[in-house]
Amino acid sequence: MFKRILIANRGEIALRIIRCCREMDIETVIVYSTADEESLPVMMATHSICIGPAKASESYLKEEAIIEAAKKMGCDAIHPGYGFLSENAGFARKCEQNGIIFIGPSADIIERMGDKQAARELMRQSKVPTVPGSKGLVATIEEAVEVAEEVGYPVLIKASAGGGGKGMRRAYSKEELAQAFETAKAEAKAAFGDDSMYVEKLIVNPHHIEFQILADKHGNVTYLGERDCSIQRRNQKLLEESPSWVLKPKLREEMGEVAVRAAKAAGYYSAGTIEFVLDNDDNYYFIEMNTRIQVEHPVTELITGIDLVREQIRIAAGMKLSHTQDEISLQGHAIECRINAESVGKISFLHFPAGAGVRVDSHLYTGYEVSPFYDSMLAKVIVTGSTRLEAIRRMRRALEEFTIEGVQTNADFMYLLTYNTDFIKGSYDTSFWDKHSDTIREWQKKGSA
Ligand code: ADP
Repeated sequence: MFKRILIANRGEIALRIIRCCREMDIETVIVYSTADEESLPVMMATHSICIGPAKASESYLKEEAIIEAAKKMGCDAIHPGYGFLSENAGFARKCEQNGIIFIGPSADIIERMGDKQAARELMRQSKVPTVPGSKGLVATIEEAVEVAEEVGYPVLIKASAGGGGKGMRRAYSKEELAQAFETAKAEAKAAFGDDSMYVEKLIVNPHHIEFQILADKHGNVTYLGERDCSIQRRNQKLLEESPSWVLKPKLREEMGEVAVRAAKAAGYYSAGTIEFVLDNDDNYYFIEMNTRIQVEHPVTELITGIDLVREQIRIAAGMKLSHTQDEISLQGHAIECRINAESVGKISFLHFPAGAGVRVDSHLYTGYEVSPFYDSMLAKVIVTGSTRLEAIRRMRRALEEFTIEGVQTNADFMYLLTYNTDFIKGSYDTSFWDKHSDTIREWQKKGSA
């Protein structure tokens, strides 16, 4: 097992990894920017090294500085968390070249799955259902029109290098297609420096269902149930739950097995996620694979009892998975709400919910300064209950206790969400936000959320 791990991240995920390492008796080195000097990860890691100023491109994305720090401190491995360098094949390769283990899959796998069009092709060849669309990249508007006419409108134009919902546009007709294609292409060029595009049929109001998988370096692959992440705002997830209310047991099993097949086809190891869209007729289609630990991973941890970060570290160290598929059972129901900052400032008072079935993952403390430099997520409130209703009631209770002063957050909005009839009924899909946007605007206007 590793003796010392460098954490190339910040905030709640850095803390999450440090906590895991402490339990595993592994020392930690946190690299940080000057803006995070007084952060909990810096206080809690065994060692800390400042690697640059606040701007991420000059600190958390500075590959050489991070590798240097790892070498200087004698670290065996680097955990990249999510975001930043977590899906950067070049960085994973540099780690490999410097004899440091990257806690994640190999650079080749990251590269293969990061090219969304190539990943889709690989899945298609492995008999994993993919969304009908172009067979390869689409270079011109004429080609895009041809594909759209073949699969039928509406279509979704997507950037092969895309992420975070960028470089993606819908087109409902031939007239709209040209404009959508150009806009998506320009956005992709600006955001990723790569404007390779492909075209997919737009699945109307689908569910976003993703399967957590774990794979070791010995060929063992398991799935740990799904997460329903359909409640999103501008393609950003807000609330995640497991199990999904719309998935019948037989379909869960089938999709889980397909997810395992997808991971095997990619030669995958580490923790990973296979994302699908599911339509109203129970047809599911692979959309992409995430090759990192995800924000919403605690939802899966709470219903399986498996520590995913610990598994990631064990896998990276060459150990076998600690569970076989038969030993994994899904218990109860878990829900996560993401609490995001809507302003910056100093936190003058903070109280987190606790008690039975409540977990809060956060890097906040009273006196902490919320800065504008990084992701706006402040905390994840995750609850578990023996039934979905118990989990919902527990989430309401937890959010009633959640108190934060000094910055504006979406906590009240999340609270109101737990009383939304469609949410309670479990009858929601990715159109949830748009469907309720009038109500949401009204709440916001009246200052109640
Ligand atoms: P990104 O990597 O930018 O997040 P994804 O491919 O994961 O892009 O898609 C983001 C979201 O867009 C999904 O959660 C889903 O809601 C929606 N989406 C993606 N592909 C389709 C599709 N073919 N039809 C309908 N919705 C889709």
